[in-house]
Amino acid sequence: MSDAIVIGGGHNGLVCACYLARAGLDVLVLEQSDTVGGCIDTRDLPDGRGRLELGAYEHGGIVGSGVAAELELESRHGLRFHRREQVTLGPADDGARFAFWDDLDRTVDGLVPLVGGAEADAYRRFAAWASAGMRLGGSLDAGPPPSLGQLAALAQATLGAEAAPFMQTLLGSASNVLRSTFSDERLMAPMAHWAAHSQQSPLDPGTGAGGLALAAFHGPQAARPAGGSRATVEALVRCLETAGGRVVVNAPAESVEVVGGRAVAVVAGGVRYAAARGIVSAIDARRLFGVGGAAGGGHGAGGG
Ligand SMILES: Cc1cc2nc3c(=O)[nH]c(=O)nc-3n(C[C@H](O)[C@H](O)[C@H](O)COP(=O)(O)OP(=O)(O)OC[C@H]3O[C@@H](n4cnc5c(N)ncnc54)[C@H](O)[C@@H]3O)c2cc1C
Repeated sequence: MSDAIVIGGGHNGLVCACYLARAGLDVLVLEQSDTVGGCIDTRDLPDGRGRLELGAYEHGGIVGSGVAAELELESRHGLRFHRREQVTLGPADDGARFAFWDDLDRTVDGLVPLVGGAEADAYRRFAAWASAGMRLGGSLDAGPPPSLGQLAALAQATLGAEAAPFMQTLLGSASNVLRSTFSDERLMAPMAHWAAHSQQSPLDPGTGAGGLALAAFHGPQAARPAGGSRATVEALVRCLETAGGRVVVNAPAESVEVVGGRAVAVVAGGVRYAAARGIVSAIDARRLFGVGGAAGGGHGAGGG
């Protein structure tokens, strides 16, 4: 029996498992596919034509949050980040290249010849507004998600007159927020691409915050793992295993056993795995509770 089970061996599940293992718990990660990493996956192209990132490529978040340092990914587990001034580059069909730099002024200066002064100014104002909104969102990271009412009250207190448009943005789609701010599709495209990192279409309601993501984070440099994004996953696995944790692949969680309101075991790939202290779901609630055919079923589901 493990102390803790983490369902899902994506980046978030692995980070969580690392913290639990380093705190002294015996941790088991159950991953449905034959490899961990989830949305972080680097593939070698045939004939040595380079590497392709299938998902996340910009890892400034794990650096900026301090998680990479706390888990000693660089100092102890072999990960090396390239720091980059250019955060992303959006090539357009007409040959224009939209560069987004850590420095906002440099970004806006580069936009002027491509989209004109008025649209570039709109980007500058949008970036300031987006970063204020994202700061508010970031301040909530460490606690349970607030209710809509609590969030609106907090927005009112911190953003003043901008609170109402901010709340509308969160509830609306990324596409709406971008189209109501900009007119040049080529400029909107990289921002819509970043919104899609949430794994939802930028057209979906509730994706508005994703539309702010690229413009909001001018300031810190970008961080790209040497060797491709999978290097981050490999370093997390080394970190986990060094602390005594382990991963079981090809283990899709099928149900979570709940006794007395507490999750005590997971059935995955037909095998029952028990946990003495707790079960953490690193897959979203919809999948966990079985709508997508994952955990749940007749057993009810637990975790958190
Ligand atoms: C195309 C794309 C580009 C992105 N680019 C960036 C970027 O540049 N920078 C950035 O910071 N973020 C980016 N993101 C977002 C980032 O990749 C994700 O937010 C992050 O990887 C999510 O990690 P996760 O562990 O929560 O979920 P996932 O990566 O989805 O991992 C979930 C894991 O759970 C497993 N799983 C699912 N169901 C079960 C089950 N029933 N039992 C067991 N295991 C199960 C899955 O196989 C998967 O391995 C991007 C996302 C996409 C899709």
